[in-house]
Amino acid sequence: MTLAQEQGNQLAANHCPDCGNDESTPGYFCQNCAHLKHTAPNVKAATFGRRLGAVVLDIVLVPLTLFIGYLIWWLIVLANGQTPGKQLLGIRAVKVTGEPMGWGLTFVREFFIKGIVIGFLSGITGGILYAVNYLLPLFDTDNQTLHDKMISSVVIKDAR
Ligand SMILES: [Zn+2]
Repeated sequence: MTLAQEQGNQLAANHCPDCGNDESTPGYFCQNCAHLKHTAPNVKAATFGRRLGAVVLDIVLVPLTLFIGYLIWWLIVLANGQTPGKQLLGIRAVKVTGEPMGWGLTFVREFFIKGIVIGFLSGITGGILYAVNYLLPLFDTDNQTLHDKMISSVVIKDAR
């Protein structure tokens, strides 16, 4: 890479590679096109509809696969930052920097934070927190749920 190219890249560093919008604004995503800042082109926030669809699919798939099928599937796709529902709808969780979460961190996100912490808080609020948690990305500039905020994750379209 020549010096001129390097300087060009530095100049472009604060601009969205997809739409050219200024990315030095607060928040993890481009405010114009939902690109995850400081990552490769075309890394975009998952839409609210897909996230909600994945939640519904995960609920439906548990009895459909007699639980054991879901469990095995879940244990495999955790490595991609996914649940079975997320995999089917082509979305996955990553760190806010865009780096992969890996199996361990996704397990913590899905089992301890979503399952135990959000599950417990939902139970004691009669399900209100459960609804608030999944509606939050509609209002949050970072498209995050509470469990995303707790573990610093965002959900993106799976480009692979
Ligand atoms: Zn953009």
